[in-house]
Amino acid sequence: MNWYSREKRYLPWRVTRNPYAIWLSEIILQQTRVTQGIPYYEKFIKTYPTIHALAVASEQEVLKLWEGLGYYSRARNLHKVAIQVSKEYGGIFPNSYIELLKLKGIGPYTAAAIASICFHEKVPAVDGNVFRLISRLFGIHEDISKPSTRKIFETTINLIMPSSVPGDFNQAMMEFGALICKPRPRCENCDLQFNCISFKEKTQQILPFKEKKIKIKKRAFYYWIFTHQHKICLKKRIKGDIWEGLWDFYLTSTSLLNVESFDRNHSKKVAYGPINQKLTHQNIKAWFTQIEISTPSQFNEIAKKLNLTVFNLDEIVTLPKPKLIVNYLTQVKF
Ligand code: SF4
Repeated sequence: MNWYSREKRYLPWRVTRNPYAIWLSEIILQQTRVTQGIPYYEKFIKTYPTIHALAVASEQEVLKLWEGLGYYSRARNLHKVAIQVSKEYGGIFPNSYIELLKLKGIGPYTAAAIASICFHEKVPAVDGNVFRLISRLFGIHEDISKPSTRKIFETTINLIMPSSVPGDFNQAMMEFGALICKPRPRCENCDLQFNCISFKEKTQQILPFKEKKIKIKKRAFYYWIFTHQHKICLKKRIKGDIWEGLWDFYLTSTSLLNVESFDRNHSKKVAYGPINQKLTHQNIKAWFTQIEISTPSQFNEIAKKLNLTVFNLDEIVTLPKPKLIVNYLTQVKF
């Protein structure tokens, strides 16, 4: 708090406790840097000095004023909430955290910021800056991308939050996170250095902890199984492949098989699938087509052309194979 009163930046919304102005600034600052947000805040307050003025504007006018700020759903929600507050609450902002949460586009952070700054309610406002500061200060290694983690941070902050000035305290923490405990922290200038667990344990670079979302790719596999009497063609997966060294069949990523003169050479074709397989980064759907080739010479020619290895059917059981292939082999008979 001492640091905040000494070092806080002048920001136009810090001179007021009017909930309309605080709400406007909070919506503008979602996904926007402070320096970029200031001229928009000033434009909005000048054009729509009250929530009622904003409510009676057309959506087109509001969007126009928002132009260049991006994430336009924020502007649409802003307008909707203005209409809602104007109509349902007589133009007066709800004055508690719980009531504020009922408004469109207002989540736990924004509701807590408005409730604490404007109505002195003791609720922690946990934004990205606060997650960073608190996780380092208290050495909290919980995954901040999980919704349940917010509760842990709120409980921790409640232990140190004064009831007398909750709004200033929330703003102080956000400002400290923005200016000192930054992604690259300025520990050498930090008043909290001697109380900071992360500083002692040198974990500043790994906190706050955020699990990287794994993108799951959907993939279609088309396997072609060439057989001739008791012989079968397999392919060894190459170096660098996730299944390196394992054996599967000739694989394409489309359902078209591009082997010249192939269609003339088979005597029997049996399709099977799909078989699903989930890996960490991909969900595979695999289709299998078994093709019995009529003559040994044509069979060997295909194996050569496609760089496949010929095995006796009873040898397959000894080869290492991906689970997908094992599943297939347990479900079909040759
Ligand atoms: Fe953040 Fe470093 Fe201060 Fe700890 S010592 S609160 S890591 S700036």
